[in-house]
Parts: sequence; structure tokens; C-alpha cells
Amino acid sequence: MNNTLTDNYGRVIKSLRISITKKCNLKCIYCHQEGENQAPAQEMTPETIARIVTAASVFGVDKVKFSGGEPLMREDFEEILARLPALKNISATTNGVLLSHRAASLADSGLDRVNVSLPSINKEHYGAITGSPNMLPRVIEGIDAAIDAGLTPVKLNMVLLKGINHSEIDDAINFTGRYDGSVILQLIELMNFRNISRFMVDIDSVERMLESRASHVNEREMHRRKKYFIDGVEVELVRPIDNSRFCASCNRLRVTSNGMLKPCLMRNDNLIEIKDGAMPEEIKELLRKAVLNREPFYKG
Ligand code: SAM
Repeated sequence: MNNTLTDNYGRVIKSLRISITKKCNLKCIYCHQEGENQAPAQEMTPETIARIVTAASVFGVDKVKFSGGEPLMREDFEEILARLPALKNISATTNGVLLSHRAASLADSGLDRVNVSLPSINKEHYGAITGSPNMLPRVIEGIDAAIDAGLTPVKLNMVLLKGINHSEIDDAINFTGRYDGSVILQLIELMNFRNISRFMVDIDSVERMLESRASHVNEREMHRRKKYFIDGVEVELVRPIDNSRFCASCNRLRVTSNGMLKPCLMRNDNLIEIKDGAMPEEIKELLRKAVLNREPFYKG
């Protein structure tokens, strides 16, 4: 029997994106909450998370990214990490507010890398986006602590918002450059989950600007994301919308905070529930089932 999780479109699953809580300490105006639209429910236990990851690893899934909500709102995040099997890459995406005190213990518990959401380094704009202008210095301390703890490369996630941070791309590149290669800037096209299309930027013009300034350009296998090298800074562009190439090379399966396998960020009509206490063989079967529910959202 084929020992990979391969969907009906030939896409082999290599990574899990696991939400571990719906709780968050910021109120970002754009947040898609990983596409979870159900009311907060019981969060998965560290044991259940470890079982899911272990079952997926049998099929060659060797990367996990934790998200939320804000994953650092889970005080047992270190325990979650410590229970995982050995994998190629374990990362988390965080708003960074609680990172400065936890970076070292998270690294000790097995975390390899972090993405930190940093939509602006301008206090006023940061506040307009997140609702918490005073948190910006703490987030920057968190980035420093992550670098000190070896959670590198740190990726800075900047969702582009017309009229707010769209004109700050240069500032973000300069800020990233200060970290001498331990930080990568990730520019993200806004996905309109909250009726906020007025903030959507013309992503083609951003791409043209990056192309004109880059000394060279690479392409990642995942989502065919382009990487631009500008003044020694690595800048990755994430443009999911209307992008059939993005979907065609998507190799991730999602898990919601309450333990549902979620084949696509954009849909909630094809979830598969993993009951608390499900045993490894059962979870493997549910993984196979969920993967067969996968379908590119944007098709070529
Ligand atoms: N609180 C954590 C954080 O800030 O990273 C994890 C949750 S957040 C949903 C995970 C990532 O999703 C963030 O880095 C953000 O860049 C991205 N994101 C959230 N809403 C988005 C949207 N509407 N469009 C594009 N990316 C979005």
C-alpha cells in the first residue's frame, strides 16, 4: 500500500498546520483565524496533538506549524512540543507579544523556528491594525529573544493593507536587513475573510516592484512562493488569491483547535472529526479520509 497521504490531485501531504487555541491577545483587523468559524470549543490536549502528529508522521509528514488564535496563549505549549515525535521541522506562527519570556523554553522543548506577525513597525499603524499600539516594543523584544534562542530563520509576516502599511514595504525590508540574515520578510496578500476588501492591495504591482529591485529570484516548492533577494534581504511573497499554482502545490493538511481535520483554509464543509481519545489506527484512517476530501480551491 502506498504509504503517503496523496490526494486525488496528486498532491502529497508533507506538513500539518495545527491550530491549538482560538484565544488571542490581539485583535488584528484582518485575522482569518485559520478559517475556523465555529464557536470556541474544547481545545485538544497535548496527548491528542501528539497522537495526530505521530499518526501523520507514519505517512512521511515531517513538518508541523502551530497556529491559532495565539499559540503562546497555551501555557502548555512547551508540553505539546515535548510530546511530539522527531520531525524535520517544527515551527509556530505567533504575534510575538509573549515570545520574549518563552523563546528559550520553546526552543528547549523542540521548537525549531518561528514566524512573527509584524504588520507595521510604526506604532500608530501597528495599533490601528492590532488594537494594541503598546505591544510593539514587546514584539520586537520577542524577535530578538527568538534569534538568541536559535529559532531561526525568524520570518516576519506582514499582511499588506492598502492605506495602512502598504507604503511601508521599504521600511520593513530595512528593518529585516538589520538582523544580518537571521530574519526573512514575508509579504502576504490579504485574504478577505472579514469584509475588508477596501484594504486589498494591487499585488501585481508589489510583485513588479520586488522583481525590479531583486538581485535574484527563487521559487519555493510550497505554494510556488517566490523569494526575492533585495539589498541582501530575503523577501518572500505569499499570494494565494486566484492562484491555481498556489493551490496545485499545497502540501498541507490543517487541524482545527478542537480536533477537526481541515483540508482547506477556505472551506468548512469537508471537515473530519477526530474524537478525543481516538487511537492511532483510527487517526490514520481519518487522515486518509480527510486527504481524499482535498480539492484545490482555485483550479487552473
Ligand atoms: N496569532 C498568531 C500570529 O499572529 O501569527 C497565529 C494566528 S494568525 C491567523 C497566523 C498568520 O495568518 C499570521 O501570520 C497572519 O500573517 C496570517 N493571516 C491572518 N489573517 C490573514 C488574512 N486575512 N490574510 C492573509 N493572511 C492572514
